[in-house]
Amino acid sequence: MTVADGNDKRRQWVSLIPYGLNEQHPNAYKDIADTIWENRDNLGYAYRILRDGCCDGCSLGTSGMHDWTMKGIHLCAVRLQLLRLNTMPAMDWHALEDVAALRRMSNRKLRNLGRLAVPMVRRKGDKGFRRVSWDEAIDLTAERLRAVDPHRLGWYMTSRGLTNEAYYAHQKVARFFGTNHVDTSARICHAPSTAGLNATVGCAATTCSYSDWIGSDLVVLVGTNIANNQPVATKYLYYAKQAGTKIFVVNPYFEPGLDRYWVPSVTKSALFGTRLADDFFQIHAGGDIAFFYGVLKHLIENGWVDREFIAARTVGWQDVEEKTRSFSWESLERSAGQTREEMFRFAEAIGKARHAIIAWSMGITQHSYGSDNVRAIVNLQLARGNVGRPHTGLMPIRGHSGVQGGAEMGGMPSAYVMGVAVSEDNAKRFAQPEFWGFEPPTWKGLSAAHMILAAERGEIDALWQTGGNFVDTLPEPDRVWRAVGNIGFRIHQDIIVSSNMLVDPADTVVLLPSRTRYEQRGGGTETSTERRIIYSPEIPGPRIAETRDEWEIPVQVARRADPERAAKIFAWKDTQDIRDEIDRVCPTYKGITKVRKKGDNFQYGGPRLLGDRFLTPDGKGHFSPIGLPEEKVPEGMFLLSTRRGKQFNSMVYNVTDPLTGLQREDIIMASEDAERLGLRNGDPILLRNERGEFRGRAKIDRIKPGCVQGHWPEVNVVVPAGRLDPSGVPDYNAVVEIVPLGRLEAIPTLEAATA
Ligand code: SF4
Repeated sequence: MTVADGNDKRRQWVSLIPYGLNEQHPNAYKDIADTIWENRDNLGYAYRILRDGCCDGCSLGTSGMHDWTMKGIHLCAVRLQLLRLNTMPAMDWHALEDVAALRRMSNRKLRNLGRLAVPMVRRKGDKGFRRVSWDEAIDLTAERLRAVDPHRLGWYMTSRGLTNEAYYAHQKVARFFGTNHVDTSARICHAPSTAGLNATVGCAATTCSYSDWIGSDLVVLVGTNIANNQPVATKYLYYAKQAGTKIFVVNPYFEPGLDRYWVPSVTKSALFGTRLADDFFQIHAGGDIAFFYGVLKHLIENGWVDREFIAARTVGWQDVEEKTRSFSWESLERSAGQTREEMFRFAEAIGKARHAIIAWSMGITQHSYGSDNVRAIVNLQLARGNVGRPHTGLMPIRGHSGVQGGAEMGGMPSAYVMGVAVSEDNAKRFAQPEFWGFEPPTWKGLSAAHMILAAERGEIDALWQTGGNFVDTLPEPDRVWRAVGNIGFRIHQDIIVSSNMLVDPADTVVLLPSRTRYEQRGGGTETSTERRIIYSPEIPGPRIAETRDEWEIPVQVARRADPERAAKIFAWKDTQDIRDEIDRVCPTYKGITKVRKKGDNFQYGGPRLLGDRFLTPDGKGHFSPIGLPEEKVPEGMFLLSTRRGKQFNSMVYNVTDPLTGLQREDIIMASEDAERLGLRNGDPILLRNERGEFRGRAKIDRIKPGCVQGHWPEVNVVVPAGRLDPSGVPDYNAVVEIVPLGRLEAIPTLEAATA
């Protein structure tokens, strides 16, 4: 369906009523007022973090409140809502002496208790945690990690706020203790992008820059809701539209934030709104591969394939061409949920565009065939020669500030740093004094979800978690709770309390309070989606006395466990020493040693990758003749996908999503489906399958019939665990039955239920 004529500037306005007062959308000015109120006890510090720090929210990346794509202020509600995590005072640690009382609290209330203040330990049978000294906590942890079988030791680091230096230190310490079970939260989001891109174009990062959007003939957003997750990206889209760029959206649900948006820092847009999407292609959930094959079929039939580029730069086209021709239009239409004519509309636009960029997120990756979805996107871009040139590219847009750097710094079970594969040869190289000075393990480790499945089988004896919350992020939370409870020794290094810490110990649980990135001595760096390594300085301000730097805690444990060896291997005094080492052992990050004050940054590989050659061993781009996935949804059942609202990762900030007006318990469904079930807007419904039940409300909106969407992580109760993409990312979709509950049955809102 065509949603706006991008050439008609007047029609880019949403409403003549100023600031869209008659429309549902976020209120940026209220967000600012709320942030000032929430941080009123620490306003000066809060302002300095915004002014000087690199944003710890999504992965667009900033220096203070500026970026490298456009002039003007770069700030959004996501950053504002995360600010309090950095400015709030210490919690009363006595609250942790009674775990049962804490378990009755929502995650939001747990978060609002304040920052973790002191190291604590809980043993099996204890009612709660008891305060211990750092010495005791480090002694205990060092002793247990020294004794554990490394094949039964897991190490997990999440992305929020962690710097490259912290990731690097953690994974190196994990390998010092002999394990490759090392992973980050990329494993529940973009690992299929890493796998799919590595296999086809030889690099796991985005190939272009955000600035390439502006002036590209076409920007395609697939399975992503940047208005919610990377809000300032809507400003990039605004400027792209001014430069004549068309924006296409491919998704089962027409996200209101991609339809129209009020960019607060652009006066015209703030007043009258901006229609972003020029065209919308409403596919079935999981219909991406069929859709892109359909587009490819039209490209072939109409001579819109770039055969010169294919011949000069790629391999495997013949197989893909044959495969594409072998699919009937009927099968492609059925799988994609789009007609042949609709796919032609897309094909004609991309076939005639001089350049196009495709950006995607978890609507692509969080399937058991997520890596194949990525390969389908690569096939299309290779067929059009849309890589390596200005305004072209492949962009897996990341949602967290540490996801890109975390994996590159070695937070991977299969690679030491920057994709250097775990192997005997590489281990020997890393054993040289100029590298790590010890031989890391050579066996392939487990990814995060596999670690929890192993814990369920009783195969994990110790797990270090820096941040993260498996219970609130993985499918089948009850099962995850039991699996985590099987682990004999758990270390939770964090800045706040999470429900994950409250799982009863099989033996011992240790809490280690850490500092934020802004408190880290010597500052630190992050790597943004566009491969920009950005320095975030230490920000002067109040400190919580007993917290320690995120990189330093595991290093102190290593030094206690084996003082002699660790003295050489971890001879770091501060983060500058770590950057010096990264500079030495990770050639892609060469130059990081010079990144040491606010504003310092560089984009590794330059603005664009793959200009002359692909980074695969043969220098070619590789086509993939993938098959069509089969989503079997029995008659009368629905395919449920998960979505995000006003939240950051699993931290929910408001029960109402300001972009959609949806409440957390709302389930989006198509009017045709609602009618068939006799449902009206707001009617109570039950989602159920063999894994569990979820009570929600029907919300009728522009979603593909047969598909429904509910908020993550709440609907995880009906998402089956153990269905993983080969890269290890869980499939966050589920087949469900929907049962109308009768209009008189009241459903308490999630907020009321957890108050
Ligand atoms: S868009 Fe992302 S990087 Fe920019 S301010 Fe918001 S959360 Fe931070």
